[in-house]
This record gives sequence, C-alpha cells and structure tokens, in this order.
Amino acid sequence: MTDQTVPETEADIGGATTRRRPKPAVLEVGDRKLSPSTLMMGHAFDPMLSEGSLKPPIFLTSTFVFESAAAGKRHFEGVTGKRPGGSEGLVYSRFNGPNQEILEDRLGIWDGAEDALVFSSGMSAIATMMLALVKPGDVIVHSAPLYAATETLIGRILGRLGVTWLDFPAGATEAEIEAVVARAKAQGRVALVYLESPANPTNALVDVEAVARVRDRLFADAEEAPPIAIDNTFLGPLWTRPLASGADLVVYSLTKYAGGHSDLVAGGITGSKAAIAPIRMMRNTIGTITDPHSAWMLLRSLETLELRMSRAGENAAKVCAFFRDHPKVESVGYLGFLPEDSRQADIYRRHCTGAGSTFSLYLKGGERESFAFLDALRIAKLAVSLGGTETLASCPAAMTHLSVPDARKSELGITANLVRISVGVEDAGDLIADFDQALAAV
Ligand code: PLP
Repeated sequence: MTDQTVPETEADIGGATTRRRPKPAVLEVGDRKLSPSTLMMGHAFDPMLSEGSLKPPIFLTSTFVFESAAAGKRHFEGVTGKRPGGSEGLVYSRFNGPNQEILEDRLGIWDGAEDALVFSSGMSAIATMMLALVKPGDVIVHSAPLYAATETLIGRILGRLGVTWLDFPAGATEAEIEAVVARAKAQGRVALVYLESPANPTNALVDVEAVARVRDRLFADAEEAPPIAIDNTFLGPLWTRPLASGADLVVYSLTKYAGGHSDLVAGGITGSKAAIAPIRMMRNTIGTITDPHSAWMLLRSLETLELRMSRAGENAAKVCAFFRDHPKVESVGYLGFLPEDSRQADIYRRHCTGAGSTFSLYLKGGERESFAFLDALRIAKLAVSLGGTETLASCPAAMTHLSVPDARKSELGITANLVRISVGVEDAGDLIADFDQALAAV
C-alpha cells in the first residue's frame, strides 16, 4: 500500500481506517441518491491507497503498525470502549481489518443502517449479540419457531447462565404478542425481543411493526426498553428491511443469500451505532469477527446480490406455480400464495417487497414420498442450507429438525411430507423439468 498522506489534525491520526474511505463518499450524483447495487462496486474503498488496485487486496495480517504512540493510544481507547464509537484506526485482526470494514460499510447500506458488524458465522453473530445483552435473571422474548441452533443457544446455553425465555408463535396478533411481553416483564428484566421472520420451515411472517408498538407501549422508560433484533436471513437484505419496520438490530447468516454461492460461512448484524456498540465490544473480547478472505469473498458476492436474488425470486415464482397445479402436490408454502384477505398477507404487504426463493412443498403422502422425490432429483442438489446460486432440497423432519420433539414438530407443521426447497439462479424451465421428472418417480 502506498500512502503518502501526512496526518495533520487529530482526526487524521485515525490511520488507514479513516483515510481508506474515499472522501467524501459518493452516495449521490446530483439529486440522485445511488442505489445499493451501484454502491457495492466501490463504496468505502479508495484504490489509490492500494497501488491503484481496482479491487481491495486481501489483507492477511494479524496486526497493524501505528503511525505514532499517540495514535496507538487513541485507537485502544476506542477498542476498549473508553471512548465511544469504536476504534478510528486499524489495530489487531481480532478487532478489525480493512476487508471486514469495507464489508461492514457496504452491508449496512442495504438495510439503511448506521453501523454493521461481520462475524465468522450466523451463529457467532447471534451468540455474540446475546452474550452482549443478557445477564443472569434476564428474560428473552422470542418468536417461534427459531433456527434450531438459536433455540439451543437460548434454551440450553443461556439457560445454564440463569437466563429464561418466553415465546409467541410467528404469526401472533398484536394482543397475543403484548400478553407474552407483559408476562416476561413480570418475570424479570426483558433483555431482548428476538424475532425470526419468516420462520423456518413454516414461512410464517412476524408482524415487526406490531412488536415495536408493543415494546414502546410496555416500556415507557427508554432505559428499560429491550432492543428488538430480527434474523433476516431468509428475505434480507433485498426483500424486507426490518429497521424501517421498527427493529433495532438485523441479524444475518451471510452464508445464505448474501454470500450466495454456498462456498463460505459468515454472519452479520446491522443497526444504529448505539445498538451495535455493546456487540462490537463483545466481539472484540471473544474474537468472533470473520476472516479477511471470507470478507473479501463477501465483497464480491454483494456486487451481484440484487441480480442473484432477483433471478432466484423470479425462478421461485415460476417453480411454485408449476408445483401448485401438480396432482402429487398437497400444497405449497410460498409467500407469493398467501390468501388475499389473510393476516399473513397483510403482514407481507406491510413488510416485504418480494416472496423470496425458499419455500415448503407438501407432497401427498409421507416420508416415503418425500424421499423418493429427493432421491430422483437430477439438477437440484439434496442438501440443507439455502440462498445459493444452485437449487437445494431437503426434508426438515428427517434432517434439520430431526432433533425437535415429535409433539413440537406436529404443532409447527413440520411433517414428513414437507420438502424444503431453496431455488437458485439456474434456468427456470430446466428446474421445472427436473421437478417434473422427480414427481413422476414418486
Ligand atoms: N439463522 C437462520 C435463519 C439460518 O437458517 C441459519 C443457518 O441455516 C443460521 C441463522 C445460522 O447461520 P450459520 O450457519 O451461518 O451459522
């Protein structure tokens, strides 16, 4: 890296972090505010600080040289929280790094967020956030169901530390949500309201606007009000923007649509600077930041995020229309098929701009039929996960949700005839041909 800039003011001793960013960042052209897709190509990176390299190099280093002892002290004041706002410069790769910071700046753009953090996995993002917010005796209120590892984290791991939880079903009404939050408030300090929408694998949407109204009604004292966090892995960041609906923190498994090629594992959180600050401190302490190489891969992924997600969404609409009319199909759990006058459709219209590309296919029959279908697929791959360029299919009851007790499985509609499909960016006609021949084999 060639950087001849001589620090002149106190703000300049921030080092590479502050000078790495183009000054001023180009966020508009004339009156036109640039869209996230445009900004993904160059935002937060100045090629002239890296020998003119069009793309950011991968910064494989464990530590960063300070320009002066005073700069080092100032950075540590930020890292340790002595001074709010985090570090102004690069310090040590457990805290920050150029690839991760560029990625954070770009990820935040999609959600219209002030700040963002990236992590080594979706679960490390969720765990770091929860560890930062809870203490013994606290209560977490959450929507149900949650991704199985998140349920384990809340129930079994935080439970060991004296944290309890109460839940409400994903599709609950405002009154039902209010009753659960009020019960939680009577039980202890409510540390967090944690949502996942749409729920996996039922696709039920949570009314985030209603949750925010309930929180604001029940916690008039802002000091006591718990933050609302939402796992936006399934529809974000393209098809829904929960910060605009009243959430404070948005959590991602970047392994899915954001990474989008099934070749990395990473996580992210976006939100206001104030909401992110304690999570950054926890990440600095326990070291759950993503590595520079994965961060670089994600920068590349974000350049095509809108293209990939739009195509996958269009493909899913065509594939679901095919499944809906097929005689061997009982029903299709797809957000594009919600009955017009249903509460779920109302939540969808208020929160979402697209139905996504991950849905539930209910075949006529049971496990035998699901397995016959999955084993006959020739283009779609039989694998768990979602949001990649390739189409994946799996049977939640026998795979991802195998450990869920049978009673809870049937309560949540996780039946043996349910096949979960994540549609990719292949040719839609080819996918339909594959699904058609697989159904013929059932
Ligand atoms: N949240 C949801 C909704 C998920 O589906 C997953 C993984 O499948 C996770 C979180 C965990 O993400 P990761 O596997 O990146 O840790």
